Amino acid sequence: TQLANQIAAGEVVERPASVIKELVENSLDAGATDIVVDIEKGGSRRMLIRDNGKGIPQEELTLALSRHATSKISSLDDLEAIMSLGFRGEALASISSVSRLRLVSRTAEQESAFSAFCEGRDMAVVVEPSAHPIGTSVDVEDLFFNTPARRKFLRTDKTEFGHIEEVVRRIALAYPNVSFRLNHNGQSVRHYPALREQADPLTRIGRIVGKRFAEEAIYLEQSYGDLKLYGWLSPPDVCRHQNDVQYFYVNDRMMRDRLLNHAVRQAYGEQLPEDRQPSFVLYFTLPARDVDVNVHPAKHEVRFHQSRQVHDFVFTTLRDALAQYAG
Ligand code: ADP
Ligand code: MG
Repeated sequence: TQLANQIAAGEVVERPASVIKELVENSLDAGATDIVVDIEKGGSRRMLIRDNGKGIPQEELTLALSRHATSKISSLDDLEAIMSLGFRGEALASISSVSRLRLVSRTAEQESAFSAFCEGRDMAVVVEPSAHPIGTSVDVEDLFFNTPARRKFLRTDKTEFGHIEEVVRRIALAYPNVSFRLNHNGQSVRHYPALREQADPLTRIGRIVGKRFAEEAIYLEQSYGDLKLYGWLSPPDVCRHQNDVQYFYVNDRMMRDRLLNHAVRQAYGEQLPEDRQPSFVLYFTLPARDVDVNVHPAKHEVRFHQSRQVHDFVFTTLRDALAQYAG
């Protein structure tokens, strides 16, 4: 029902940036290699996401807008080994319950595109022919127009857009082969072209988090059984006061995790003054069955089944890389 969707929206949709996160993740799950995000007024007026992914078949458009409709999980086994980014089947239903949302999509098999939107108090889904290349556009207007209490919590356009930029940055760091464009009020603000084969990943990382980090960072790479860690981190002597470059990915999702943060901090040990922050872009992978990402709808937390082992692996890998750099 509409109310249940609005309640669920409270968990998933905190602000415009959370909408962007969900929609961009959907585009990636659909195999998109080109994603364009158009924002008006910090996202409160309009957010339009266009992708060149596989599209949604006409007959599935209605379902895509209903709650707990996910095409990505068909059994409990799947739930325990989540590979795709979305899996709860709530994002589109939640977002459309607190905005004016229109989906337009076309698959490669279809001659033409169809659009879908909810209308009326019972939120009946209307599907009609439309024009669109292969892929999907999701157009979200007037976020929280029907939940004024929520709308009041939105900050300035500049602040909300800043959160959107950060979401795009985080995702772009994990998908180097996808092109991302971010526009605000008709102006191009960010463009991260897809990394070409053989190209140095640091060029793109530098574009996303800053050239200075890319120039100074130490590279590391290590595996232990099924655990693999690689990435870049700042040498202790150039660590800054800011903590704005701290990106730790677990199976391609950015995580803010106490256990991992602790392992990083501990690896620097005394080399890092207490008022300084390490910068890092690290990618950790392990079998999906050894990690639980189904902890919170916003999916920032993670639970490792072997947390001690993970902690020690991350800690020793970073410590060794730093020691090698120093020596
Ligand atoms: P979830 O991502 O958890 O499955 P969502 O509510 O985010 O749930 O999306 C519902 C369904 O709509 C997805 O399972 C997918 O089948 C379809 N879908 C949503 N966005 C896209 C997209 N950009 N491209 C293709 N299919 C999409
Ligand atoms: Mg989703």
